[in-house]
Amino acid sequence: MTYFASKRIAGRHFLQIPGPTNVPDRILRAIDNPVMDHRSLDFGKLGAQVLEKLPAVFKTALPVVIYPASGTGAWEAALVNTLSPGDTVLMTRTGQFAELWHQMAERLQLVCEFVDTDWRRGADAAEIGAILAADKAGRIKAVCVVHNETSTGCVTHVDQVRRAIDAAGHGALLLVDAISSLGSIDYRHDEWGVDVTVAGSQKGMMLPPGLSFNAISAKALKAYQTAKLPRAYFDWQQMLGINKTGYFPYTPAINLLYGLDTGLDMMAEEGLDNIFARHDRHAEACRRASRAWGLELNCAEPRDYSSALTAIRVPEGHSANALRALIAERFNMSLGTGLGRLTDIVFRIGHLGDLGDLQVIGTLGGVEMGLRAAGIPHKPGGAQAAIDFLSGNA
Ligand SMILES: *Cc1c(COP(=O)(O)O)cnc(C)c1O
Repeated sequence: MTYFASKRIAGRHFLQIPGPTNVPDRILRAIDNPVMDHRSLDFGKLGAQVLEKLPAVFKTALPVVIYPASGTGAWEAALVNTLSPGDTVLMTRTGQFAELWHQMAERLQLVCEFVDTDWRRGADAAEIGAILAADKAGRIKAVCVVHNETSTGCVTHVDQVRRAIDAAGHGALLLVDAISSLGSIDYRHDEWGVDVTVAGSQKGMMLPPGLSFNAISAKALKAYQTAKLPRAYFDWQQMLGINKTGYFPYTPAINLLYGLDTGLDMMAEEGLDNIFARHDRHAEACRRASRAWGLELNCAEPRDYSSALTAIRVPEGHSANALRALIAERFNMSLGTGLGRLTDIVFRIGHLGDLGDLQVIGTLGGVEMGLRAAGIPHKPGGAQAAIDFLSGNA
């Protein structure tokens, strides 16, 4: 199973958490190439190739910056490159990741205002629009939303947020966390007028953790010119400058870039639309399974259902963590834990990244066996409902 497994369990581990996700063997083999000189001619070719292919995934025509950092680093980059101390930002509190981004903003001495939810739906674009319309003085400098809230299994509709900002005639920047949606759920940086998109390598992009991204609009680059938050390592300018030649200002995560190069090829081979349709189908299969079990989806708003993961609530008086622990021990599968206020209330099935129908069925079979073994009240037949759906629509 894992590197630190205390006992051997035969068969492949099912890593069904919503990131990090299963890394395809083809990408692992690419990563397993010798480290090269990052100032060599060959590296310049690799760097240029990756930087040229990457923007298509964000649906942007402008360059995308790559950091050797987890997604959290790219969150910080988005804020420090565009804002100044004391600036007001409108944050949505849709779940644990939105909460953590807001905590970072406060540590950076930004003043936060909030749009709250019950963590069972996406943020309401109309509410964002109303707050902006009331901000006649233009105090709010940025709106920060999490596209796919990985802790709740709910999406916020970024296109609607864009329209709400425009309808309010407000000049705020739009900063979007697409860490767990990029490469899984349709995302359009340019068309939706996003100013900074924050993304990471270990979710829909099928890579190990360790890389993160900023897609940057022309308006965000303009804001960069006057932004006064201290920035050093994450400064866009030196990165964008040297990236033009295919190189990086400091040692890049060379082997992860081999993996990214291969992953981008794989995504192009499958086609983004096919990738999104695959995620939609797998999400629908998981929701059908959940309904057949008689378990409640955490996402209470069907139009906000996530195609990247499904968060399922266990009946009151039962422990989602005990279920997860049992499934890990008995069936060699990792499911996502409940985070923040959803701790022990939900378990999350990650179905993003490199996943086929049989892996989804295996995952749901494991959940169903776990529900039975853990004594969680449910009706049998969830995995069967998914089989019916996936075979009928295959
Ligand atoms: C995973 C995740 C993060 C955190 O990224 P790290 O790579 O762990 O730093 C932030 N936001 C969302 C929506 C995520 O899914």
